[in-house]
Amino acid sequence: MYFRVIPFHRYVQVEAKGSEGEVTFPTWLPGSYIIREMERNIVSIDGIRISKNKFWVREKFSYKVYTLSWDQREAVSTGDYMFLNGPAVFPFQNLNEEYCVELDLPEGWKVHTTLRKEGERTFCAENYHELADSSIQASPDLREYRIDELHKISTIDSLDDEFLNRLRLVISKEDEVFRSVDPSLTSKEYIFYFRFSTNPRGGIEHSNSSAITSAWTSDATSMIEVFAHEYFHRLNVKYLKPKDLKVNYVEETYTELLWFAEGVTDYMAYKLSWASGGISLQEFLKRIAESLQKLTFHGGAMSLAESSMTTWIKYYRRDENYLNSSISYYDGGLILGLILDLSLFRKGLKIEDQFRKIPREYTLHDLQEAFSDSEVDLEVSRKPSMEMLKILGEFMNVNMPDVGKPYIGMSLDGDVISFVEDGSPADRAGMCPKDKVISVNGKPPDVITKEVEKGKEIRITMSREGRLEEIKLEVGKSPGHAVKISSKDISEKWAGKSFTFEIPSRVI
Ligand SMILES: [Zn+2]
Repeated sequence: MYFRVIPFHRYVQVEAKGSEGEVTFPTWLPGSYIIREMERNIVSIDGIRISKNKFWVREKFSYKVYTLSWDQREAVSTGDYMFLNGPAVFPFQNLNEEYCVELDLPEGWKVHTTLRKEGERTFCAENYHELADSSIQASPDLREYRIDELHKISTIDSLDDEFLNRLRLVISKEDEVFRSVDPSLTSKEYIFYFRFSTNPRGGIEHSNSSAITSAWTSDATSMIEVFAHEYFHRLNVKYLKPKDLKVNYVEETYTELLWFAEGVTDYMAYKLSWASGGISLQEFLKRIAESLQKLTFHGGAMSLAESSMTTWIKYYRRDENYLNSSISYYDGGLILGLILDLSLFRKGLKIEDQFRKIPREYTLHDLQEAFSDSEVDLEVSRKPSMEMLKILGEFMNVNMPDVGKPYIGMSLDGDVISFVEDGSPADRAGMCPKDKVISVNGKPPDVITKEVEKGKEIRITMSREGRLEEIKLEVGKSPGHAVKISSKDISEKWAGKSFTFEIPSRVI
């Protein structure tokens, strides 16, 4: 198929040429596990609707797409900037034919893409999968920052040298791992499409590029972590992938192994960032402690396999009850990656050297074989995730210093309850997330922590959906959500020094 793209403020107009017949707009896009229904953005199309995402079209047809998503996995066009993630804008007919995109841009616009250049402003992909695995970024303000000969950052923003220097260390360390698996993995040019945003950080991986956004308030460490994560996907997900993670643009695909594809990728990103000097040991330990903290909630009863299978309706649809009901395969996978690494280290081995033993399309059994030296039974990924707290305890001290301390079992975002722990005093007293606290024992809401620490009964006045409620609750004892990790013999050697790191609980 052939697409001529004309960008406007908030919209792109596409003049398409294919074959007379059915055309399908993707319902989800690889690398992000939520049904996005990209067809929702079609404003007009000269075709006959068959279903929500299929149309009958003539050989030549045109359509207009609303493009004002600040999500780096979708598309945005503002009149002076355009970012297109292939499946967010382009439909398909025959997945295996060539797809070309001609950009009808004003004078002076620059274009960055990994698609094959076929003309002044025309770029082609061998098939739809390559188009879906590529992005296009264009603007008169586009600039590039070189990381090295083969890696660059394409952006409309400014980046500082401190960040770039640290990132260079990380990318070259990841490349070392990639080369040990297959030298061809690092032979092509790679582009990081980057933009600062008012949204939290996020990214999506492709084989030879990734699209990343960071909050304007992000520090260099947080940016490095997301760059390192997306770049490690070049190996884990784009080169090695779960055997059952098949690409189907219109239906969900299921695997029990997102904990390895995403969580172990997170672990590797942090570990290699630390090992290369891109982030400090304390910053690495902070990520570990944050992930461990999630395992201390009721959601830790969920297995990593179940967490992977339910990503479509749980992880990507997280709500205020998430910590009671689910564990993230990122958090659990990071901890399982750490356990694998520490147990390999005990044998004089490193996790990064085991990737070459993994087949291109892997099953749990294949991972078990590849990591057999670790003696970790990966069936743990099918058991309650909180069991990993005990396993990690073999390698480092893992404590919850707030066990037994005064507690009512809820978190606040300002004055609004953001979480109520199942079985806690707040739960028993009937408090709900989204309730707004108006007063605590007749005092302003910000005294709540101090009042709870007194360990007595407290009275809370609050607004629930605009109605006043008065609740009395008995202060109870915390099951423990603060996390303190410190080195034991083996983990001290692994870290190169003794360490301790503690994060407080955000549950009152
Ligand atoms: Zn990822």
